[in-house]
Amino acid sequence: MALANCDLCQRMFDAWGGQRRCQPCLEAQERDWKVVREYVKSHPGTNILVVADATEVPERRIREFIMAGLLEPSQMTGAHYPCRKCQGPIATGEYCPTCLGRLGRDIASSLDTVKQKKDDEAFKQRTNGFANQYRSKHR
Ligand SMILES: [Zn+2]
Ligand SMILES: [Zn+2]
Repeated sequence: MALANCDLCQRMFDAWGGQRRCQPCLEAQERDWKVVREYVKSHPGTNILVVADATEVPERRIREFIMAGLLEPSQMTGAHYPCRKCQGPIATGEYCPTCLGRLGRDIASSLDTVKQKKDDEAFKQRTNGFANQYRSKHR
């Protein structure tokens, strides 16, 4: 058990996999994503605002899908958003390729942290191992 507050509805849920959203929210998101994906497929070259209007999925959520790599920003106009570092226009991820190159090392290490969290049991065992080593050294 690893209780956490859902990012979207703030309810407590069991984040055993390190996820930040509860199951009902994830399912609602998946439904939204499918609706948006279908709409974009049948309306190539549409605008993100038109998609939001037609599917009743908030524009912010559509952008989240794009940032998560679930939608192709090239399929609609207005889907670019600023790089988190230099504010240049990007269509995927959180940083432009230039900043990404610079940040590569940081991101690789943060991905390692995520992997560790997912592997909750192994992570706990490792932590206990460190604690035991520490205790035996400093006894
Ligand atoms: Zn939720
Ligand atoms: Zn940048």
